[in-house]
Amino acid sequence: MRFLEMWNPLTFVGYDIASKEQVDQTLHELFSVKPHIAVIFSIAVAALSAVLGGSVETGLLALVIAGAGLLFRYFTEKHFKARKSEATRTQLIRLLVIASAFSIVAYAMSLSLLFYIGSPATQMLVMAVGCAIVQGAAGRAYMMPGTALFNIAIVIGMLSISTVAGGNYLVPVFGLIYFAFLSGFVIKMVENRERQLEAELKAELLFKEIVEKNELLRLANEALATKAHEDALTGLANRRKLDFTLPRVFDAAKNEGYAVSMLIIDVDHFKNFNDTYGHQAGDECLQTLSKVIKQAVTVPDGLVARYGGEEFVVILPRTGKREARAIAELIRMRVSITNLDTLPNSPPPQTISVGLACTSDCAPDRDAMLQAADQALYDAKKLGRNRVCAHAKVTVERRSA
Ligand code: GH3
Ligand code: MG
Ligand code: MG
Repeated sequence: MRFLEMWNPLTFVGYDIASKEQVDQTLHELFSVKPHIAVIFSIAVAALSAVLGGSVETGLLALVIAGAGLLFRYFTEKHFKARKSEATRTQLIRLLVIASAFSIVAYAMSLSLLFYIGSPATQMLVMAVGCAIVQGAAGRAYMMPGTALFNIAIVIGMLSISTVAGGNYLVPVFGLIYFAFLSGFVIKMVENRERQLEAELKAELLFKEIVEKNELLRLANEALATKAHEDALTGLANRRKLDFTLPRVFDAAKNEGYAVSMLIIDVDHFKNFNDTYGHQAGDECLQTLSKVIKQAVTVPDGLVARYGGEEFVVILPRTGKREARAIAELIRMRVSITNLDTLPNSPPPQTISVGLACTSDCAPDRDAMLQAADQALYDAKKLGRNRVCAHAKVTVERRSA
């Protein structure tokens, strides 16, 4: 802050860098009537001393003048608390400066009057109260230094006039030195306040940045976790995801007592397909068939994973053997009618063989189920492909290839 700016009563330290909450909090403190109640009590003691010393009317007059200052502050605080619009913060600062000037003039007048008519004992009390007011204003000067210095100048100035009127010329000199000392003190306080507000602002910005970065990191981790469980070619779940899911599915099935079925699907003669139509057509064929399989599995929590090469595994929770066979047949049928002639070298529709295992025939365990389904798949291949075979009962349903 520039030196001259500090003397402007309207200057509010850090108005442009402090947050809205900080400005409001500072205004709250500045508008508070509490320190003024303490001032009135002290002035009342000095007034009482004057009354006891025989200056009843002047003592009471001094108290009334100071009381007017307090009353003004009381209504000003009330107005501040009842404020509605946010756009009036500059007006509030202006009001504060006016209220502050009014009350300080009232207190200073009251003290000057008491000093002028008072006994040495009363004068001592007045000086003590004057110093307390000045110290109080200086202590709060880091918020609005101009107003505080103005208040200090009024108290010292008016008391000095009063002492000069009483024939004491030393007090104004002392007052000047005191004022100069306090000004230096206030300058330091303002510098510290500005540094504190800047540090708080920086900390807040840094915190916001950390929160944003954390959110980005969280999203990146989420994306990474999804990718880590995804097959790159088909977008289906990969083997890692399958291994992760299977124990959970079987645990839930055991706990809740429902059946789980598993299908292993293998594309028939896929080596020939690659040899005949090319590897790229093979890749695209796997992508197309993946979509067909996925769309056919509508069981809640059902999982379709690429198990490796041209093999897929389907997990069907809450699905008995009959239902699973129907789903397997649906997949087999849809694959067999899937048009592939948009792929490179226009291959014809392909067929799949499916091995089925169900917890009704087999232990609800990853290895046991995979082994059973694989055995059923082997049967399907052996019996001529393009068919669904279930584990345990060799159910054969021939279809035209
Ligand atoms: P079967 O009916 O007995 O299953 O015969 P198959 O030819 O499908 O079986 P095999 O295991 O001999 O061959 C599988 C082929 O699948 C071998 C490989 O060329 C092909 N394959 C595996 N993964 C991919 C892939 O990611 N892309 C392509 N284009 N081909 C793949
Ligand atoms: Mg295979
Ligand atoms: Mg195959």
